[in-house]
Amino acid sequence: MSAPRIVAIDGPAGSGKSTVARLTAEALGLEVLDTGAMYRVVTLAALEQGVPLDDAAALGALAARSSIGLGPAGAVVLDGRDVRAEIRGPEVTGAVSAVSAHPEVRAVLVEAQRAWMVDHGGGVVEGRDITTVVFPDAPLKVFLTASEEERARRRAGDEAAVGRSADQAAIAADLARRDRLDSGRAAAPLAVADDAHVVDTTGMTIEQVVAAVADLARAAFG
Ligand code: C5P
Repeated sequence: MSAPRIVAIDGPAGSGKSTVARLTAEALGLEVLDTGAMYRVVTLAALEQGVPLDDAAALGALAARSSIGLGPAGAVVLDGRDVRAEIRGPEVTGAVSAVSAHPEVRAVLVEAQRAWMVDHGGGVVEGRDITTVVFPDAPLKVFLTASEEERARRRAGDEAAVGRSADQAAIAADLARRDRLDSGRAAAPLAVADDAHVVDTTGMTIEQVVAAVADLARAAFG
C-alpha cells in the first residue's frame, strides 16, 4: 500500500501558511486542515467560559469536552456555533499562544489531528508542530517563512480586508511576540525539521508559492 499523501506545513505567524495550504490542497485534490484554528477555538472557549489561561488541567479538559468542527469553505464550529470570525479577533489572537503552550491541550488536539488524517487518508495540514511532532513521517514537509516586514504587511492586508484596524507596526509587534512564545515554549516549539524544505516566500506571489509546494508534493508522492 502506498504511503498516505500528506503535506505537512509549518511556519511562523503571517507566513501565508493558511492560504498556501488551502490552494495547494485544491491543486492536489486533497483536503486541508488548519490546526491553528483548533487552538484558536479552544482559546475562545476558555475566554468565554472563564477558564484561567494558566490552568493546564482545566484547559485540557475543556479541549476534550469541546466539539470542534472544521467544515468545508472555512467554517469553524464550536459546539454547533460558527465562530470563524471570533477566532480571528484580537482577544483570541492575544491569548492563543498561552493556551497552546500547555501539553494537556496539545495532547487532545494532536490526537484529533491524527484521527482527521486517518479519516481522510491524506491531506494538507498546517501549523507549528506538524512536521516535527504530528506527522514527522509525512512524505513532504515544508517550512514556510518570509521576512518580518513582509509577514506584517500581509497580516495588515488580511485585517483591513475584514474591516479591522491594520496598524502595521502593532501587527509586527504582535507577530514577533507570538513567534517568541511559539518558538520558545517547551512543548512542541516551532522549529525547522531536519528534512523540511524551507521556502522563503518573501517577494513571491501566492501563485508562485503554491506552484512550488505542489511541485514538491508531486515529486514526493511519486
Ligand atoms: O496559525 P495561527 O496563527 O492561526 O495559529 C494560532 C496559534 O496557535 C499559534 O500562534 C500557536 O500558538 C498555536 N498553534 C500551535 N500549534 C499548531 C498550530 C497553531 O501551537 N500546530
